[in-house]
Amino acid sequence: MGAGRHGFISDDFKGGARMDIRILAHIESIPIVDAHEHLRQESVRLAKQPDVMWLFHQYAGADLMSAGMSKADHDEVMNWEAPLEPRWRKFHPWFEKMRHTGYARAVLIALRDIYGIERLDETTYRDASERIRAENRPGLIERCLTRRGNIVRILNCNYELDQPVAECRSLMPIWSLSNVQKREDLAGLEAQSGVKVVDLESYRAAVRALFAVYQSRNVIGLKMVLLPWTHVDAARGNTLLCEVLAGTCSDPTALQAFLLAEVLELAVPFRFTVAVHCGYYSGVWCNFTPSHVRNMVPLLQRFRDTRFDLFHLSFPWVDEAMAVGKAFPNVSLNLAWCMIISPTGTERAMSEILGEVPANKVLAFGGDYWELPDVAYGHLRLAQRALAGALSRNVADGAIGLDDAKRVADWWLRENAYEIYPLAKNE
Ligand SMILES: [Zn+2]
Repeated sequence: MGAGRHGFISDDFKGGARMDIRILAHIESIPIVDAHEHLRQESVRLAKQPDVMWLFHQYAGADLMSAGMSKADHDEVMNWEAPLEPRWRKFHPWFEKMRHTGYARAVLIALRDIYGIERLDETTYRDASERIRAENRPGLIERCLTRRGNIVRILNCNYELDQPVAECRSLMPIWSLSNVQKREDLAGLEAQSGVKVVDLESYRAAVRALFAVYQSRNVIGLKMVLLPWTHVDAARGNTLLCEVLAGTCSDPTALQAFLLAEVLELAVPFRFTVAVHCGYYSGVWCNFTPSHVRNMVPLLQRFRDTRFDLFHLSFPWVDEAMAVGKAFPNVSLNLAWCMIISPTGTERAMSEILGEVPANKVLAFGGDYWELPDVAYGHLRLAQRALAGALSRNVADGAIGLDDAKRVADWWLRENAYEIYPLAKNE
């Protein structure tokens, strides 16, 4: 259909001749489990009057800065309270340089499908902004994700027990329990658990009590950010914890490693799945190298009864993430965010994973947005097409049959989530 329905998106993005329309149609019919978002309560976004440039905040804004926009200009451009036109003048030159990246594509698909804007330019930015503001009313998350995206569950890291919509199930952060550098860092744990921490035993009791609260509130997992980890024995860990309780800590890094292991150990009987941020960080100027998936290996070997859902294919160390996915029975690969970091790389990775990793260990979509359910929908459309392209190639190559391809799509977009996370299907 040439430049028809998909207009500003390049033909390459459509998957071209490699795309088997039967596979795409099947994929587009699957009710989705969105395997990772950060969705805030809807009132947070509804309190704003967002315009078209604000839709580029979070990820796409980083590509504006990567292209060369200054941080000051970025912050001004994202300030929806300031006049529209001067901000567009600052935005437009850098937008032209990054409109082809995955971060931008997700926004552009949202503009096309949700707001009816085929091409964002000088003639449409005002209209686009008016439409976004008109649509910014209660039910936005449901309209974008549940109805339009056919998403039936959202594994949500807003780090709150209260969730924005009924489809969400929450994951809670590990770092608020393990990153203890001073006495006050334990205040949240004590308040939520009702247990005063005076030594290692009471710390354990507090974490157990907190996990019982989590379980009663439908929490399905814990989330950690990967850092290099080495084992610290209990005697040394206890000494370091007592130092913090007394007001100092001689080795906060060792204490953090110790408490992380304690928390993982205490979580085992609760059956929480542990989601792990691996690899790339959002933003610019970040040192993401400590999150290399190789740093996960000692934890994977030690905690064999814990299910670890490794995020983002540890981008850019995708080959290593696939190898870890293959080598460790307690690992799944969660492709949240990958699609917009690297659209072509993710489609290629999907194809490689199919041949390398058992098909019950993959979650193919997570939007990874905080206040942008509309852009998360755009991201979903990209991921669906990439998966259709990857599976089509495998069918065309004779690696799998058409029915196999459809079954893998069902698993990767929905069924696996019910096995990898303690999620009930009929609740
Ligand atoms: Zn995330």
